[in-house]
Amino acid sequence: MKNTFRFYLLILFVLFLSFSLSSAAQQTKAQQSRPQPPPLKAHQVKGNIYEVKGGSGANTGFIITEKEVLVIDAKMSEESAKQMIAEIKKLTSNPMKYVIITHSDGDHINGLVGFPPDVTVVSHHQTRKDMDEAFKEPKQRLYLPILTFSKKLKLYSGNKTIKLFYFGPAHTSGDIVVYIPDEKVAFLGDLLFLGRDPLVHKHKNGNSFGLVKTLKNILKLDADTFVHGHGDIASKSDIEGVIKSLEDKQLKIKTLIKEGKSLDEIKKAFNVEDRPPLPGRQRRIGLVEAIYLEITEKK
Ligand SMILES: [Zn+2]
Repeated sequence: MKNTFRFYLLILFVLFLSFSLSSAAQQTKAQQSRPQPPPLKAHQVKGNIYEVKGGSGANTGFIITEKEVLVIDAKMSEESAKQMIAEIKKLTSNPMKYVIITHSDGDHINGLVGFPPDVTVVSHHQTRKDMDEAFKEPKQRLYLPILTFSKKLKLYSGNKTIKLFYFGPAHTSGDIVVYIPDEKVAFLGDLLFLGRDPLVHKHKNGNSFGLVKTLKNILKLDADTFVHGHGDIASKSDIEGVIKSLEDKQLKIKTLIKEGKSLDEIKKAFNVEDRPPLPGRQRRIGLVEAIYLEITEKK
């Protein structure tokens, strides 16, 4: 009797062991299959201007001046924002005073909660409006921009001047350019994408013709180094290339509309198909459709 009992206990133990081993294996598998963001690291752009790549969310940047640090965009999570702050602290003990937000997309703003609560958040007024709608949590609302502007704003920090420009609706309706004239560097947020179609957020009143206008204004700046949200540092000729391909696309769509082609026919001509909608999310309008709507709505 005693032996049978021991035997059952042994079987139970073996079953338990194999169950916990297999669930542990499943857990490691799940951890492995979940894409980990690349490690976050600060790279010097020029002088005391840095770009931060890796972590979750878009590339960000920061400028170290004699007195303080000005940050450009906030990453997508509290954790990545804190990693970014740790990178900054490796280079300077100056306090972080400003976070300049290029536009309201989550991959640029959701990390704000990881910053010290006394930072001054700066943005275009339209971006603040978008953030006011998006930031529902009381903790997030502490980071709504304090300082907003419409066309341009100059910030002075030590002997450094930082110019912020708004050239009209483009990727969203509140994208700004952060220009540091001394080093001829400009941060463009998502006004520039290389190697893929520009992104025009119709749901945030972005506009492809506005994007062309904005990019042309950026070319007028005395700058040679352009940092942007999702790629490597760009030059003026990269921007010229984007303008050219966008204008070609707009012209072709205009011509097809004049020829009486429907939106579906035009999409086919560009070989674009709508991506299946994500559950619970508004359908995102692609570039060809956005241009089509801009042209036909103008009439
Ligand atoms: Zn964006």
